[in-house]
Amino acid sequence: MESKGKNLEAVQVMNRKLLLKLLQQNIMCSRANLSEQSGLKQATITNIINDFISWGLVEETGIIEGNKGRRAIGIRLKEDSFYVIGIRLSRKYFEIGIFSLTGKLIGEKCKRNVIDTSPNVVMDTMQAIIEKLAADHSDKIIVAIGVAVPGPYYFHEGVMETVTNFRGWKKVSIKSELQKRFQLPVMIDHDANAGVLAECSFKVNPEKYRTVVYVALGQGIGAGIFHNGEVFRGATGIAGEIGHASVNVNGPQCECGNRGCLTLYVSTITFTENVNEALKKSGRATVDSFDDLIERIQKKDADVYPEFRSMMRYLSAGIMNLVYSYNPSMIIIGDEMSRVGVQIIEEIKDNLAQIVERKVVDQAELCLTSFQMDPAFIGAAELAIDYVFGHTELLRE
Ligand SMILES: [Zn+2]
Repeated sequence: MESKGKNLEAVQVMNRKLLLKLLQQNIMCSRANLSEQSGLKQATITNIINDFISWGLVEETGIIEGNKGRRAIGIRLKEDSFYVIGIRLSRKYFEIGIFSLTGKLIGEKCKRNVIDTSPNVVMDTMQAIIEKLAADHSDKIIVAIGVAVPGPYYFHEGVMETVTNFRGWKKVSIKSELQKRFQLPVMIDHDANAGVLAECSFKVNPEKYRTVVYVALGQGIGAGIFHNGEVFRGATGIAGEIGHASVNVNGPQCECGNRGCLTLYVSTITFTENVNEALKKSGRATVDSFDDLIERIQKKDADVYPEFRSMMRYLSAGIMNLVYSYNPSMIIIGDEMSRVGVQIIEEIKDNLAQIVERKVVDQAELCLTSFQMDPAFIGAAELAIDYVFGHTELLRE
């Protein structure tokens, strides 16, 4: 049973993690800033920061303008101290990169296709790439691996469930596979949870937005929920897995057994298939991938836009379910489809205005992700960083 009280060691772990998260968000600040933001006494801050400096984790940067114009010594997380590996596994590809503790991608990322590839081959390829990356950066200390996988993902069991469009991947434990191969802590979560973690670690002010929902709109659909400073996973880890919530009880059967799942209507894969079917019928040239359709959606091309609008109606129903389930103050749309841009937001807002009261719509801010990179990829790295911030024994030079 989890202890209800907190022993001194647990408090120390908690305080260290809190300060590391603040240092990650602030880039550069003073000890007084940290005291103010954390509510911890100056003496506690001094002790912890002294430890961090002696471990080679934090460095002093010289004099900065501190509180109320007072000059203070600046401190920051050392950019070149420790690193993590971030892996984003999607239904069609995976990408791998090395990240600093401030969430910066170091060097190039490696991307490989995984269509119709068995789990063993994918794991072997991942291993080869990680080994190559580690060899190319042999001067760097890598302390953990974070992986974002397509949902549903049973967080506490470490097992990925039935994945639509992903053959032979039922009940695969990537976590134990990677741990076996690398002897490093491996943290895994589903892509939408990784996305919301990245948003709330680097972009969104958690003081201002208490409940944030990130909707991963890509080759499938899922949502990550961030509430009161942490990812909300539910009892087994599938909270927010709206891809398999039905929006049509009489709809077609999904691989998961349910009927009319949202993911059957809202995904870049289904959308591209539907558009191609329509194009074929009218004797026009089909396209290779969703990327070929982005510009045509933006220009409201008559062959493409009606299909997009129809998909947005299903998406809006899914978003409405999220609003009523979690009452978020912010909803962020990310992943592959978000590259379409403002049309997505416009369509959702139009649809919501038609089906519910203004009051319900207005309470949640709706926006696109402001990351240039895929939030789930950065979030994969942040999963690993978050873990090592809570296990500082791994962060000693
Ligand atoms: Zn389903």
